[in-house]
Amino acid sequence: MSPIKLAIVGVGKIVRDQHLPAIAANPDFELIATASRHGTVEGIPAFISIEAMLEAVPDIQAVSLCMPPQYRYQAALSALEAGKHVFLEKPPGASLSEVEDLIRLAASKGLSLFASWHSRHAPAVEAARAFLADAKIASVEIIWKEDVRQWHPNQEWIWQAGGLGVFDPGINALSIMTRILPRPAFLTAAELTFPDNRDAPIAASLSFRDRTGMPVTAEFDWRQTGKQSWDIRAETDQGLMVLSDGGARLTVADSIHVCGKDEEYPGLYRRFAEIIAEGTSDADLSPLTHVADAFMLGRRRITEAFHD
Ligand code: NAP
Repeated sequence: MSPIKLAIVGVGKIVRDQHLPAIAANPDFELIATASRHGTVEGIPAFISIEAMLEAVPDIQAVSLCMPPQYRYQAALSALEAGKHVFLEKPPGASLSEVEDLIRLAASKGLSLFASWHSRHAPAVEAARAFLADAKIASVEIIWKEDVRQWHPNQEWIWQAGGLGVFDPGINALSIMTRILPRPAFLTAAELTFPDNRDAPIAASLSFRDRTGMPVTAEFDWRQTGKQSWDIRAETDQGLMVLSDGGARLTVADSIHVCGKDEEYPGLYRRFAEIIAEGTSDADLSPLTHVADAFMLGRRRITEAFHD
C-alpha cells in the first residue's frame, strides 16, 4: 500500500526532536508539506499557514498539528473540513468542549482523529498496567518535578491561559495514570500555585480517589533543579511498584521488570496509521478532564514572579 501523505503544522521543538525521526522511520507515512510561520524542514515544501498549504497541496491525506494547544482547534477544523485525518499533539486542545467538537466533526466525515498521549507509549507503561490489574493497591503517589528553565526555555505560550503551565508535563503523568489504574480515579482536592506574573501554574498538588476509596496523590513542580523526577509509585500487596523515568523503567519490590528505550513517537505514528486503516478515531480525553477538574476544584496560591 502506498504511504499516507502527511503534512506537519507548527514546526518547532517537538517536531524536530521527535516527529521527524519517527515519520522518517515509518514506511506508512510520507511527509510532503509543512505549514509554519517560521519553521521549515529541509527539502519539504513549506507554507506559512495551514489554509495556504491545504489549498496548494490537495494530495495531503493527514496532518499532524504540533503548535501550542491554544491554536490547535482552528487548524484541526480547517484540516477536517478539507477531508484530512488529524493527529493532535498533547494536550489535544485548550478546552474539553472544543476537542469534543472535533470528535463529532471527524465522526460525521468518516475521518480519523487521534488525540495522542506520547507518554502512554513509554516502554514500561503496559507492564505497569498488567501488574496493577492483578495487584491489590493500597495507594498511588505521582511525583513529576522538573526544571522549567531546562525543558521549556522562553516558551511564552506555556505560561499563557490555555498553555497549562506545569500541567503541560503533568498531563503526561495523568495520561499514564489513566492508562494503568484498574479503575478510574476522580479528583477530590487540588492546590495550584501561580507565579505573580503568570496566567498558568508553576506547581500543583492533586488528590484523587477511586470508587473503592483508593487514594492517589500527584505533585507537579517546575522549580526542581538537580535530579528530575517523573515517577509513579504504588504500594501494593506484592510490594512497592515504581514506574520511573517517565514510564521507561518498572521495578516491583526492587527487582527490575522492564527497562526499555524511548519508543514513544514511533509508537504514536504506528497507532495513527492503525486507526486510519481501521477507519476509527482514538481520542481519550480523560487526562485533560483531570486538568480541567483541577482548574475547577483547585484552591489557588500566588507565589513569587517567574522570569526565564
Ligand atoms: P514550540 O517549539 O514552542 O512550538 C511549536 C511551533 O508552533 C513553534 O515553533 C511555532 O512555529 C508554532 N507556534 C508557536 N506559537 C504559535 C502561535 N501563536 N500560533 C501558531 N503557531 C505557533 O513548542 P513545542 O515544545 O514543540 O510544543 C508544541 C506542542 O507539543 C505542545 O502542545 C507541547 O505540549 C507538545 N509537546 C512538547 C514536547 C517537548 O518536549 N517540547 C514534548 C511532547 C509534546 P512557527 O513560529 O514557525 O509558526
